[in-house]
Amino acid sequence: MCFVFADDLNDCDSLQTVISHKVKIIINPVGFFSYCDTVKLKNISNNNGRLCLKISPIVTIKSISHNDEPLEFSREREKVFVKDNFSKEENEIIFECAGELGEGTEFSRIARNQAIIRLEEIIPSTIINYKFVRVTLVIPSNWESVGPGEMVYDTVDQNNHISIWQCDKPIPMLGWVCAAEYSRFQHENKGILFTTLLFADDSVFSSQIAKLSGNVIQYFGEKFVPYRFKNFTVVEVDNWVAGNSVLAIASPGFVMVKKFAFTTEDKFNRVESILAHEIAHQWWPLTVFLYDEDLPFLSEGLCEHSARWYNKFSGQESGRDSLGNHPLLRPLLLKILRGEDTPLRQKKDMRYSQTHYLKGAYIHHMLQDIIDERKAEMLYKLYAQKFYEKKTNIYDFITIAESLAGKKLDWFFDQWLNRTNIPRLKIYNVKLKLNGNIWICEGRVRLLGYEKFSTFATVRAEGKNSYKEDTVFIGTDIEGRYNNDTPFRIEMYEKPQRIILDPLNNILKFRKLPPKLSDLREPSSGTMIIGTKNNYDSLRKFAERDSVEMTLAGWVIRIITDTSATLSDLQRSYVFLYGTPVQNQLVESNQGKFPFKFQGDSLIINGEEVSDVSLTFIQVIDNPYLENGLLIWIAPFGFDVPAKLLPYDASWILLKGKEEIAKGIWEIYDEDLVFEVKSGF
Ligand SMILES: [Zn+2]
Repeated sequence: MCFVFADDLNDCDSLQTVISHKVKIIINPVGFFSYCDTVKLKNISNNNGRLCLKISPIVTIKSISHNDEPLEFSREREKVFVKDNFSKEENEIIFECAGELGEGTEFSRIARNQAIIRLEEIIPSTIINYKFVRVTLVIPSNWESVGPGEMVYDTVDQNNHISIWQCDKPIPMLGWVCAAEYSRFQHENKGILFTTLLFADDSVFSSQIAKLSGNVIQYFGEKFVPYRFKNFTVVEVDNWVAGNSVLAIASPGFVMVKKFAFTTEDKFNRVESILAHEIAHQWWPLTVFLYDEDLPFLSEGLCEHSARWYNKFSGQESGRDSLGNHPLLRPLLLKILRGEDTPLRQKKDMRYSQTHYLKGAYIHHMLQDIIDERKAEMLYKLYAQKFYEKKTNIYDFITIAESLAGKKLDWFFDQWLNRTNIPRLKIYNVKLKLNGNIWICEGRVRLLGYEKFSTFATVRAEGKNSYKEDTVFIGTDIEGRYNNDTPFRIEMYEKPQRIILDPLNNILKFRKLPPKLSDLREPSSGTMIIGTKNNYDSLRKFAERDSVEMTLAGWVIRIITDTSATLSDLQRSYVFLYGTPVQNQLVESNQGKFPFKFQGDSLIINGEEVSDVSLTFIQVIDNPYLENGLLIWIAPFGFDVPAKLLPYDASWILLKGKEEIAKGIWEIYDEDLVFEVKSGF
């Protein structure tokens, strides 16, 4: 999904803070850069005559000087030690450096057609407290650039394009600079200049993206605090940046979106779907500065929650916005069941923890239910106002939430942020009786297992035309008594047909969910097993094409043949079988485990015989060889109209190339959460 760093760099053992950078960077598309950086440092304590800064070993330091006097320095891996005899409280030190980024790093690279540089990787740093940053970029004359904050100067001559990017407000990180031969589009909206820098073949999206950015910034500006800069840019970058599980990266004043998000056919990952979340990062953590351990909840979770708010407001709610049907919900539940989950509140690389975006958003949603929607609106605004351009942690957030709610909420944050499990609830002992003309429905709600959770839960009795609800509380009450079992009672005129616990899925809890192809959304490692009995080459090509697309989405894929596969290859979390029973011997021996089966060359779907060679059929079931794993079967009827394995919102799907001919979801009955009233009850 997305990626945002705050201050991941260790602070050396310096007793200095960096309060400003004024850096001029010259980028040479052959792969080199050079820069002159004036770093302003502030003493925060006595330095004992030594100054320590961090600077990447890929950077060659030509000189370090102070007041035109060269300074002696030594280097030890990523640390630079400078002899420190500065008398003033604030001192400016000038670094002249150069380096090569042709091969590049995970985050930075200078190629013939594009330069992406994460500034923290090449520029000296120590404890960060940036009050002012100016980046002058010198790039080829046919390139465009974007950097931190606002563009304050821009000129092109025969050889160079020079732009100055400046932040005269505090920022929690320098972020990135991007430069390439871009197609530039600009659109002004209420005093803010919206720019898109896209590659020529994606420039058809320019005006749509610039307009959407304008609407989102406007909305968040009113909801939280006004956007801080006079410009905002969406810039397209190549797919390698920051690894394959990242789709976009937020930086002060702009968002980098990968080419993949412009080209993919998977709506969930397209630029239009991810932009609101990415823009929300301009507030969390780029206006309200956060500690690393709070990023999962107060940055990623809150950006996801903010995006849901925007989409609800704009009437563009999609699968991404529904928590109960969210494609990452089943992957999250499976992760918890496998015991692989980690607490939300901790310092971690969110790139490898996609289900935590959903968990974070769910917690914000539940909080809204507990303190009520109107107060929740105030909560985020107050938090943004109070910690505007300041560093804050979860305790500040809890304090504001508690004062608005007028009650203690530490139990809520503790159970959801510091623990890994989620509640398992059950409705039971349901009894129905008719009293005069009123139906009385009584029963109990219980929290299963040993883990203690506290939560409100709605019980709904649903008739043909109407419903009635009761809300119960399970857990530790105000007096500290714990109760894991509580009665409910609902009265209604119409006879209830079904009693449902938490009908709107407002609580993050265990549920039985059918396996769906969208479960493949959380990247993991998978084994593709291709048939060798017939059409081996075509099947192999088919699988390889899918594996390329999945690798771009962050998967690690291994391809083997049916003849070489052993039982242990089937006992994996994600197993993909390629071929029909006449092509793949493992399909032949396992197709009985799937709901849809081949008869000869054809398949019966919804009563119709399917054998057209332009079709592909895909179905997914719980892996019979491994608990909480998935077995996916991809059966092409022919190879002329290739279909892609994408995370479709379906348990089975019949495809003709990109076209979805038919699809469905396995029916699952969750007796813990739904009680069906039998006729004659
Ligand atoms: Zn994000």
